Amino acid sequence: MSQDLNRRDLLRTGLLLGTAAWLSGCQSSGGVTELPPKQWDWSDPLDDPSKAPPLAQNSYKPGTVPTPNAPIGPVPGVISRSQWTSAKPIMSREAYAMAGVARITVHHDALPSTGIRSMSDSARRLESVRQSHVRNGWVDIGYHYSIDPMGRVWEARPNNLQGAHVKNQNEHNLGVMLMGNFNEHAPTSDALNTLDAFLAEMMRRYRVPVGRVFTHQEIGPSACPGVRLQRYMVATRAPSGRLARA
Ligand SMILES: [Zn+2]
Repeated sequence: MSQDLNRRDLLRTGLLLGTAAWLSGCQSSGGVTELPPKQWDWSDPLDDPSKAPPLAQNSYKPGTVPTPNAPIGPVPGVISRSQWTSAKPIMSREAYAMAGVARITVHHDALPSTGIRSMSDSARRLESVRQSHVRNGWVDIGYHYSIDPMGRVWEARPNNLQGAHVKNQNEHNLGVMLMGNFNEHAPTSDALNTLDAFLAEMMRRYRVPVGRVFTHQEIGPSACPGVRLQRYMVATRAPSGRLARA
């Protein structure tokens, strides 16, 4: 690589990669009321906290992020798929059986979730993501589970089917998506408490070690799950983190 390849070229390459990943999995164009997210800024605001955009605060929750070594709580009940859609996976498309779970991958949907407050808000969001993924030619919504900002867990793609959430890395890979754009705002403490509890439960159920719990950007070119959720995932999986100790 020539040294003349300047920073702007690198940034542009990064933006293109980010956009390609965005198109390949973790984004839904959503309904007409949902604008596409701002393009990923490849300069990581964590490198210079003074340049980080202000956190949008969720009005229903002042949003203190839990410490990753706090005790892990119980897994909330999973809301069944029938509560948000009557559609079935389109089995005439290229559908594969999951045939066992060996790894788990965490995502965001890259759409702001600060307006999501009610069950019907979450249900509408999921249906919008499902429709977008089906328009991609996919069997169904790409993820197996989703967690909303209030910390409720929603069943998405049936977990006996392989998901569509990391390009070329979907085999035996359980996809868990948090509603939100965590480059734009912080995940709520309720969502993070549920995430740890739910991941711990899935790890026990499928005998997946913490070293096989990934974020999207760790196994594919993507900005997902956003800087703030990525930072949290690093902390909770660290040896002193509560997921590692679960
Ligand atoms: Zn993703």
